[in-house]
Amino acid sequence: MPTPHGTTMCRIGDQLLVHVPGDQPAPAEALHEAGLVRRTVADHSDAPLTDREAAPLGSVVGLGGSATVGGVDFALIAGPCAVESHEQMSASVAMARAGGAVALRGGAYKPRSSPYSFQGLGDEGLRIMAKIRAESGLPVVTEVVDAETVDLVAEHADVLQIGTRNAQNFTLLRAVGRAGRPVLLKRGFGCTVGEWLQAAEYVLAAGNPDVVLCERGIRSFEPATRFTLDLSAVAVVKHRSHLPVIVDPSHGTGHRHLVKPLALAAAAVGADGLLVDIHPDPPSALCDGDQALDRDRWFDLADTLRDVLTSLGRRLAPGEPEPAGRAR
Ligand code: PEP
Ligand code: MN
Repeated sequence: MPTPHGTTMCRIGDQLLVHVPGDQPAPAEALHEAGLVRRTVADHSDAPLTDREAAPLGSVVGLGGSATVGGVDFALIAGPCAVESHEQMSASVAMARAGGAVALRGGAYKPRSSPYSFQGLGDEGLRIMAKIRAESGLPVVTEVVDAETVDLVAEHADVLQIGTRNAQNFTLLRAVGRAGRPVLLKRGFGCTVGEWLQAAEYVLAAGNPDVVLCERGIRSFEPATRFTLDLSAVAVVKHRSHLPVIVDPSHGTGHRHLVKPLALAAAAVGADGLLVDIHPDPPSALCDGDQALDRDRWFDLADTLRDVLTSLGRRLAPGEPEPAGRAR
């Protein structure tokens, strides 16, 4: 049977979604006759593969190992903004794990607004992430900033993060769609919910269903916070899409004292998890130290979240003890 131009396929859970663009009922009818179609959905959306109709129960995305986002379990992903050294990442992963994080974050390539700011350790940072992953067994999440380095980053990390500044870099979105790794897709700070879902659609249309959306704040007229964390977008996306959505209250607010209230609000509004900046010594951080939680604040957040989530019928992974000498 000829495949109409622009047809895309994506496996979501146990079903294969075939999107036939435009007004072309014939192929669907032929597939129906062959007994191959479970159901046909009218294409009323400009992001049909991400539409909730494609997987009404919501999808669960594996991050590597037993870590997942979506479903009953609330996923914490924590770590410093930037990879600075093996020692810093080693201390960070112990902290992250003790608080119940299922994955470690850390940027090797940092897309900074100023060319004079710390740009990240680059390849060296990737090697540190891979070493920490091997030593700790925790999946690692790191940002990929251009299509040329997708394969390299995919070799070293479990999850590919697309940052807010690249949220509509369509070449990059297609490239991570082919990389065979789950993708953490930040919302562009100037993007509508519809544009964000269409960005995710690029990744799914390239054959990769494993996309986790991340609300990290949008630009508004309000300078009291670094960005304006749009928690209503979380509720909108949960309604419109089957993809899991997490919230980054660190980049969203820019101030560590605001991270906890916004994190709790994110849990209450129905987010599937959080991406949180933590650092063993925030004053020495080379990037975004003002928004990083220290040990005490991080453990306090995890403890309070556990209570809030229980009352919502959801679960947070229990923290694992830190190596000897660093008891909580
Ligand atoms: C980050 O998470 O390190 C980051 C740079 O975030 P954003 O792209 O949301 O600014
Ligand atoms: Mn940052």
